[in-house]
Parts: sequence; structure tokens; C-alpha cells
Amino acid sequence: MKLIDGRATAENVYAELRGEIAALKARGVTPGLAVVLVGDDPASRAYVRSKDKMCRELGLHSVKLELPAETTQSDLLARVGELNRDPAIHGILVQSPPPKQIDEAAIIRALDPAKDVDGFHPMNIAKLALGDPTGFVPCTPLGCLRLLTESGVTISGAHVVVLGRSMIVGKPLALLLMQKGTDATVTVVHSRTRELARITRSADVVVAAIGRAGFVRAEHVREGAVVIDVGINRVDDAAAPRGYRLVGDVAFDEVAPKTAAITPVPGGVGPMTIAMLLANTVKAAQLRR
Ligand code: NDP
Repeated sequence: MKLIDGRATAENVYAELRGEIAALKARGVTPGLAVVLVGDDPASRAYVRSKDKMCRELGLHSVKLELPAETTQSDLLARVGELNRDPAIHGILVQSPPPKQIDEAAIIRALDPAKDVDGFHPMNIAKLALGDPTGFVPCTPLGCLRLLTESGVTISGAHVVVLGRSMIVGKPLALLLMQKGTDATVTVVHSRTRELARITRSADVVVAAIGRAGFVRAEHVREGAVVIDVGINRVDDAAAPRGYRLVGDVAFDEVAPKTAAITPVPGGVGPMTIAMLLANTVKAAQLRR
């Protein structure tokens, strides 16, 4: 069994990006990312901090906009409008989940699609479905694909079973994997799927993105399969310093021995998500004329 190291793979991405950023700077362009956080959800704050830190480490222009929890929809739309018009900003991300008074879908539609580095704008989803390379693909699916290719897993012709059909992970990942040139045979399973274990057992690659701690057990995976665990779930653990620990959607201890390769949680898909966000920001700067 090989452990797929997300931190090391993310470092490879950063090494590549450093070269691309240097080339952009030589042309007088510093890629800029704006992250908008509404409210003070602690997990969201932590994500925003680590995005800001990575931007600075790579020498990107980073803007962190922290707005109060009571920000209205029209205030937020106005801020998004300003960032859309700001030439120093190439990528904009509105951290999810926003407070309840905010209509998140409307905010995403208000983003300039050319700055939508999360890849959630309908225009970018359409481009992904069409196979148009000028679009932005959501960061977590992009990170999963990169982990597979860098680990030497053959995807062309392979049967990949994706667990979960969210717009953030499962659905865009399925579109990405089945694109011409990537060429996986993709099955997507979800909460209404019958005989889920029979389907996942037929997979060469299993990607779990359902948000259920330890859901994928040994019985779900055939001997020699590759497993990518997207899940990030908190489970109570009195022995842990914060009283909880993070686990994936895969019961790692019983599944790992059966696999050819598997990602750990933490240290698998997580670090790749931020790396691909920065990669999308650099791409946005490269595409701007
Ligand atoms: P959602 O809750 O939006 O979607 C979950 C999906 O899993 C749904 O399609 C749901 O089916 C399906 N599902 C839920 N329970 C079952 C079940 N018992 N059997 C089969 N399918 C089931 O989650 P997300 O896609 O946003 O996130 C999934 C996980 O990935 C979470 O743990 C999240 O924290 C993590 N995540 C990690 C990221 C990273 O950077 N590593 C980034 C984003 C997410 P249905 O549609 O039928 O309801």
C-alpha cells in the first residue's frame, strides 16, 4: 500500500507556480486574490488565514476582506462589484458558508466569471461540461485529479466511482474525470443509490466525498483499488487537545491494507485544495489580456 502524500504533491504545485508567478511579475503582473469572509465562523476564519498565508509565501497580492456577520446582501454585492472592477485582483472567493441573510447563489452569479477561481459560477460549470479549458474548475476536484496523476494512477479507461454528487466536489469531479483526454469511466453514487457496495467494489478508483466519518469500509473496496478520501469530519476525542479530531469518509485502518494507494486525512486532499486555488488565481492572471 502506498500513502498518497497531499502535502508533498501540493509542494510540487507550489514549485511550478513560483516559476509561473516569476514570469508574470517579469511582465509587470502580480496575481491578486481577494478572499471575502462574512461573519466569524471559526473554521472559515482558519481557512481564510491559511489561504492568505500561502498567497504571501508565494508573493501573490492578497486581500482579506472580513465583513461583519450582519452584512446585508446588497452590501456584499457592492463589495463583490468593487472587486470585479479592481484591476489588481484576478481571483475572488467568497468563503462558504455565509450567514443566513445572504443568498449565496446570487453572490456567486454576481462574480465576474473570469475572476471566479472557485469555479462555482454557472459560466464556469458550463465550460467544464463543455470541456472549454478557459474555465475554472472547482479546486477540490482539481486537487483530486492532480493527486491521481502525480501518483502515477492510470485514469484513462479506469472505472472511477465517486461517492457524493455535490456541486463542490462530486458532480464537477465526475465531469472532470470523464472529459476527453482524461477518459475515466465514471459512476456517481449518492444517498438514493441501491447496492452501493457492489458498485464501489467494481471500481479501480474510489473517491469518497459524502461527509460521513468512516463510511467507506473494507467491504466497499476491492483488493488493489486506489482510494481518495475527500471527507473532513470532526469526531469527539477526549484525548485530543481540542476535544475532537478530523477523520475522513473512509475507515482508514481497515481499508488501507486492501488498497494499492490511499490518501490520509489530514494530509491528503486538504492541502491540494488550497494549492489548486492558487493555481486557478495564477491561471486567471495569465488569461487576462
Ligand atoms: P454535501 O453534504 O454537499 O454532499 C454530500 C453528498 O454525499 C451528497 O451527494 C449526498 O447524497 C451524499 N451522501 C450523503 N450520505 C450518503 C450515504 N449514506 N450514502 C451515499 N451517499 C451519501 O458534502 P460536500 O460534497 O460539500 O462535502 C463532502 C465531504 O468532503 C465533507 O466531509 C466535507 O467536509 C469534505 N470536503 C473536503 C474538502 C477538502 O478540501 N478536502 C473540500 C470540500 C469538502 P444526496 O445528494 O443524495 O443527498
